Amino acid sequence: MSQGTQLEVEVQHVDVGANRLLGLDGVAVAHVALEEDRARVVHLATAQEAAAACPKCGVLSTSVKGHAVTRPRDLPYGEDPVHLLWRKRRWRCREAACPRGSFTESLPSIPARSRLTTRLRAACGAGVAEDFKDVQAAARYHGVSWPVAHAAFIDHVSPALAAPLPPVCVLGIDETRRGKIKWAQDVNTGRWQVVADRWLTGIVDAAGTGGLLGHVNGRASAEVIAWLEAQPAPWREGISHVTIDLSASYLTAVTEALPDAVVVADRYHLVQLANQTLTEVRQRATRDVRGRRGRKKDPEWAKRRRLLTGFENLSEESFMKMWNKLVDAGDPGQEILYAYTVKERLRELLALSGTNPDRSVISHRLWLFYDQAAHSRSPEIHRLAATIESWWPAVEAAIITGYSNARSEGYNRLAKHQGRNAFGFRNTANQQRRIRCSCTRQHRRATAKKTELPG
Ligand SMILES: [Zn+2]
Repeated sequence: MSQGTQLEVEVQHVDVGANRLLGLDGVAVAHVALEEDRARVVHLATAQEAAAACPKCGVLSTSVKGHAVTRPRDLPYGEDPVHLLWRKRRWRCREAACPRGSFTESLPSIPARSRLTTRLRAACGAGVAEDFKDVQAAARYHGVSWPVAHAAFIDHVSPALAAPLPPVCVLGIDETRRGKIKWAQDVNTGRWQVVADRWLTGIVDAAGTGGLLGHVNGRASAEVIAWLEAQPAPWREGISHVTIDLSASYLTAVTEALPDAVVVADRYHLVQLANQTLTEVRQRATRDVRGRRGRKKDPEWAKRRRLLTGFENLSEESFMKMWNKLVDAGDPGQEILYAYTVKERLRELLALSGTNPDRSVISHRLWLFYDQAAHSRSPEIHRLAATIESWWPAVEAAIITGYSNARSEGYNRLAKHQGRNAFGFRNTANQQRRIRCSCTRQHRRATAKKTELPG
């Protein structure tokens, strides 16, 4: 029997309507059987001549050796399960030079040795990337195993993640902790020590929509330099500003690898540092005066949260209550209030960021901060002023440009969310891929749209 007539015999009972419903390329629906549990069994026949091509030499075979039945899993359709049953032929390869003895049919829509259709695998991979909270949820929905769903996800997301980075003007560098700190007790001394404190450095597009551009294991300057230097020179030259927290290692990395970029100190970290300084003043002053830690009945302890709240976020009543309580308390309240004023002066200075401020306004507010700090008797406050002084060019750049690491904080939140959904990651490569995938959604959607546009 010639190959053409063979195909005709197998496809003669084809149900055209069912075929259209199934919409699976290369196979035709011979008939649909209904099982007792309401599952539908779709019997398929091959409807593409190319399926008879030898995978080794590509020559179409005409010699049938036998038949094989496969049950590829497919996308769900309707309420009841659909089981595909494809009766495919096994062919002999008659090419003299071909080492392949025989082969079974395969199609682009149902590849050889695959237990799923290509479209199910693609939906599963895209589902992990876009819709489901984790790999397990996608695997369960599509009725596949975790490794299958995970491999599908990697195939789905790898091309986008491996694509060249979008041009970036403002780069953000920020650290996130990877996992929890691990402690262990020393058997000899009985003291507890940190045995593992792992960090990831996230590199983000701080002003554009490029999302999370990459991850670096650790937070040392050498590792960040290596990442930056691995990027193409034109991309690096496009970077005009880099926002970092007050970390010396990131500063070293930027001056080394991006010498022409302006370093911007992240203003949120500056406020955080001022709050931390105020807390240190409060704790030390309490110990100095009372000879112990703060207690509930101490006014400075009772108002400790209010001290850290921004002035503009306190009602007048609330502010006056705090102020009067601490003034009436004498020491240590007055020293703490002085430190509070220094913190607020710094916040007033930083509040100018992004408002296109006049240089004279900046220098006036800076002077107010330094003046207040200089008259303080707390060593912690002097240290804060010294830090601002040594980082001043970067702080000034933050005030003038308004750039910050706000976006990378947002990505850190997404990264933590991914970690919680996955109940932690054991594999760093998987963790970084999942996080980068969730922090580049906007960018991937935008590029997908661009490639879909005609012309
Ligand atoms: Zn062959």
